[in-house]
Amino acid sequence: MLIDFHSHTTASDGALSPGELIDRAVAGNIHQFAITDHDTMAGYRAAAEYYTHIPGQMRLISGVEFSCRWSGTTIHIVGLAVDDQHPAMAAGLALLGDARIARGKKIAERLEAKGFAGAHSGALAIAGESQLGRPHFARWLIDQGHVEDFNQAFDKYLGQGKIGDVKAFWPELSEVTGWIVESGGVAIVAHPLKYKFTRMKLRRLIVDFKLAGGQAVEILNGRQTADQTNQLKRLALEFELEVSAGSDFHRDAPYGAQLGVELRHLGDLRGVWERW
Ligand code: MN
Ligand code: MN
Ligand code: MN
Repeated sequence: MLIDFHSHTTASDGALSPGELIDRAVAGNIHQFAITDHDTMAGYRAAAEYYTHIPGQMRLISGVEFSCRWSGTTIHIVGLAVDDQHPAMAAGLALLGDARIARGKKIAERLEAKGFAGAHSGALAIAGESQLGRPHFARWLIDQGHVEDFNQAFDKYLGQGKIGDVKAFWPELSEVTGWIVESGGVAIVAHPLKYKFTRMKLRRLIVDFKLAGGQAVEILNGRQTADQTNQLKRLALEFELEVSAGSDFHRDAPYGAQLGVELRHLGDLRGVWERW
């Protein structure tokens, strides 16, 4: 049986629209599926609406992937089965939406001050329904002939330490975990090995996460080795956490993961999927 609790649409940085992603998941015989766009549930909303109009046995779970601060690092927390109408969750999503809009404006102001007139409206037009981000400014700079490609756009204007490198505002780990749990959802530490923490620091993260009400850890994210999965299974067992898994699908790529994770590869740990 296939599940997938981590995926992205054009509402954040994915390549497929919510409808296209639903079609892909249904065609792929995914049993339980969640869309977890970065800091927005607009993609899930559109997908849920689309899914009411097509046949399918798949169970669609609401989801989001929040960025947050913890101990000087940006951590990703996935929320599943969250209610975006719950006051705490709605306020959190609005806060992050506003923060992204403000950040986009600031990047544009800086580019326009450098002589790139029309950067804001240009990038907004490219972003369309998606949240405005640096990739849209890069696309606009390329289209205008200011740079040759994405690499040059980031090397010259948008990358770390360049004028367009405006730090995003992220809430604290405890805050986003709180929004998720208060709205009836399950909070999951996404891809725990991607932060490249020491064993000690990773355990500290888990302790703080549990104190904030967090309940689960992602033991499989996209492509990873069996060793890594086993390491994360041990972590889940030790801290008595539920487990989750997903492809983290963004787009078709030569070595990228496709949708769907086979449940029997996950062992007999307590899965978040047992909740619904
Ligand atoms: Mn992403
Ligand atoms: Mn992530
Ligand atoms: Mn992701």
